[in-house]
Amino acid sequence: MKTWLEISKTNLAHNAKEALQRLAPQTKLLAVVKANAYGHGMTLVADALSAKIRADRLWFGVDSTEEGIALRKHGIRAPILVLGYTPLDDLALATRFRLDLTVYNLETVKRLKLGRIHIKLETGTTRQGVGERDALAIAQLASHKPGIKLVGLSTHYANIEDTTDHRYAAMQLKRFCSAADALERAGFKIPIRHTAATAATILFPDTHFNLVRFGLGLYGLWPSKETKVSSYASKEGSPALKSALIWKSVVAQIKKVPSGAPVSYGLTERVHRASRVVVVPVGYSDGYPRALSSVGTVLIRGKRAKVLGRVCMNMMLVDTTDISGVRLEDEVVLLGQQGQDEITADELAAKVGTINYEIVARISPHLLRRSR
Ligand SMILES: *Cc1c(COP(=O)(O)O)cnc(C)c1O
Repeated sequence: MKTWLEISKTNLAHNAKEALQRLAPQTKLLAVVKANAYGHGMTLVADALSAKIRADRLWFGVDSTEEGIALRKHGIRAPILVLGYTPLDDLALATRFRLDLTVYNLETVKRLKLGRIHIKLETGTTRQGVGERDALAIAQLASHKPGIKLVGLSTHYANIEDTTDHRYAAMQLKRFCSAADALERAGFKIPIRHTAATAATILFPDTHFNLVRFGLGLYGLWPSKETKVSSYASKEGSPALKSALIWKSVVAQIKKVPSGAPVSYGLTERVHRASRVVVVPVGYSDGYPRALSSVGTVLIRGKRAKVLGRVCMNMMLVDTTDISGVRLEDEVVLLGQQGQDEITADELAAKVGTINYEIVARISPHLLRRSR
C-alpha cells in the first residue's frame, strides 16, 4: 500500500475514559464522529468505543442522515444524534434508522411523523438554532404529534476555544438556562440538556448537564493552546489526551540530484547542494495540504525530511540528504510518531494557517485505516 493510516483503538478508548472521568455518573458521552470521525475512520472509531465504553453512557453524534445510516448499517445500536440539518425529504429515512434529530424549524416538526427531536437554541453563536419564542412554538407543535418525542434541548458555544476569557460563554449558558426554564414553566419536560463540546467538557462542569458532545478530544487533540492553558489553571486539571493517528507512506524512489536542480512543478525550489531526493507517493488529493509545499516535514528513519517544492496531487518530494541509510519502501510518517520524534496536527496546522481540526478532517476518506 502506498499510503494508509494506523489508528490506536486503545488511545481512543483512553481519551473517552478521560472525558467520562470528568462527568457526573449520570452524564452521558456523545462521541462526535462526523467527518469520518475527524479523519480517523467512522466505523473503526465507533467499534473501538462500543467495545470499551459502557453502553448506557455512550451516544454517537454525526453531521448527516447519511452518516447516521452508515453507523446503523454497521450495527451500532447506541443512540445517534444528527447534529446538522436534516432535509425535509430525508425525515422518513431518519425515522427508519432511529436517528435523533436536531430541530430548529416548524417545517421539520410538521413533516416528521415519528422520532425523537432535540431543539437547538440560539444563544449567541448565530449559527443553527432558534430563540426562546420559536423554541416554545416548536415544542407546542411537537406536543400535538403523538409520534414525536421532544427529548433534548441544546446549544453550542461560539467562543470557548479561542480565548481564556470565558465571559461570552457564561452569557450563552445563562441564556440557555433561562430558555430551558421558560420551556419548563410552559409545561415541557425535556429530559436531556446538552451544550458542551470538547473545550467546555474539559473546562466547565456547569455546561455538562446530562450529555456532553465530545469530538476533538476523543482523538487526543486539544481544541487550542488557550484551552490547554485554561485547563492547567482549572480545578479539574488537565486530561492526559493521547493522539490516536499515524499517517504513513513509503519511499517510492531515491534519486541523486545535482546542486541547483529545481524540484517539482513550477520550479519553485532548487536544491543548494548535491542532494538525495525521495519520492513519497502521497499528495493533496489524499489530504496532505498543498500549502505545505516547501514547508512541510515528514519523518524517515526517525529523522525529519523537508518537503521540496510543490506538493502534487498524489506525490511529493522530500530531502533526505542528511539521513543515512534510506532504502526503497522505508516507512515515511506524515503525521504522528516515528522513533523519538512526532509530527502533530497542531504543527502542520500552524504551518498552513489553519486548525488541527481541519488537518485531520480533510485526510481523504478513501485511504485505508488500520487499527493498531
Ligand atoms: C462538531 C461538533 C461538536 C464537537 O466539537 P469538538 O470541539 O470537536 O468537541 C459538538 N457539538 C456540535 C454541535 C458540533 O457540530
